[in-house]
Amino acid sequence: MTARLTPTDIETAADLLRAGSLVAFPTETVYGLGADAQNPGAVAAIFEAKGRPHFNPLICHYPTAAAAFAHVEASPIAEKLAAAFWPGPLTLVLPRRPTCPVAQLAGAGLKTLAIRVPAHPVAQALIAALGRPIAAPSANRSGSISPTTATHVAAQLTGRIAAIIDAGPSTVGVESTVLDLSTPTPFLLRPGGISLEALESLIGPIARIADAATLRSPGQQLSHYAPNLPLRLNATSIAADEAQLAFGPALPASLTFQLSESKNLAEAASRLFEALHWLDTNAPAQNLHAIAAMPIPNHGLGLAINDRLTRAAAPRS
Ligand code: AMP
Ligand code: MG
Repeated sequence: MTARLTPTDIETAADLLRAGSLVAFPTETVYGLGADAQNPGAVAAIFEAKGRPHFNPLICHYPTAAAAFAHVEASPIAEKLAAAFWPGPLTLVLPRRPTCPVAQLAGAGLKTLAIRVPAHPVAQALIAALGRPIAAPSANRSGSISPTTATHVAAQLTGRIAAIIDAGPSTVGVESTVLDLSTPTPFLLRPGGISLEALESLIGPIARIADAATLRSPGQQLSHYAPNLPLRLNATSIAADEAQLAFGPALPASLTFQLSESKNLAEAASRLFEALHWLDTNAPAQNLHAIAAMPIPNHGLGLAINDRLTRAAAPRS
């Protein structure tokens, strides 16, 4: 049984986490599938529920930068980024301290740990009520579309987890930006809710591999975020058997999901996963067999949107 909770049920949710159960909860990026990060059995259950490969490490969520930096070795750059962007959609990868009590499996046995301080008040309340960090990947089955509503979570994980806290749609809509600070030059592992431009204006140049096929971050397999329907990118016309993912004035098509009529990248990011869920659900009934996505500029949040769309369109492994 998976209980449907509301933000007033935080204590119930924290008790479930304390008992080693899994609770899906809202964050500003997407819904997370949470476990007590210091309970190895609970962390293992996350991989089980998601069908996630064990080499793919999880992000640990903390109440404050001070609490996070008690578990990892912060650098001056990490402190600067934390002051500017936490709480918020930025994840930092830093060396674990020898005393770090987080389960090894949460970090997939690596010497580094990915940490974040989320901004969502329900996520904050849950972490505070537990009194320990929460390990949480996105609350979807591995390889599928990330959830931005409790309904998306329920569709994929009902019966596999103890509870879902429903607090309405996530506002950012794409996952956090993941930045590796464990090497001398900061390295972008995943574009996300904080733009590369915003980070570079604070700390200078950040290295990255332009090709989305990079495997440096263990979780960054090419095929990911995949809808059931095939996806075609950079469409400038829509075929008769295709549904449209529009950005800006829509092209003629029998079924369209509009990401942002006014070409606002933040609005498009917040609606991206909802769009893929919706098209997957509604296109087949109209005999449409594929999704065609209009081009999206590759700057600001467009980098994160195009990263997710490229993976959604990649050949399935
Ligand atoms: P998710 O929790 O599903 O949003 O994915 C978290 C992302 O952070 C994945 O792509 C992981 O591979 C990446 N990540 C987490 N921990 C580390 C780490 N220690 N080193 C490198 N990448 C990491
Ligand atoms: Mg994920």
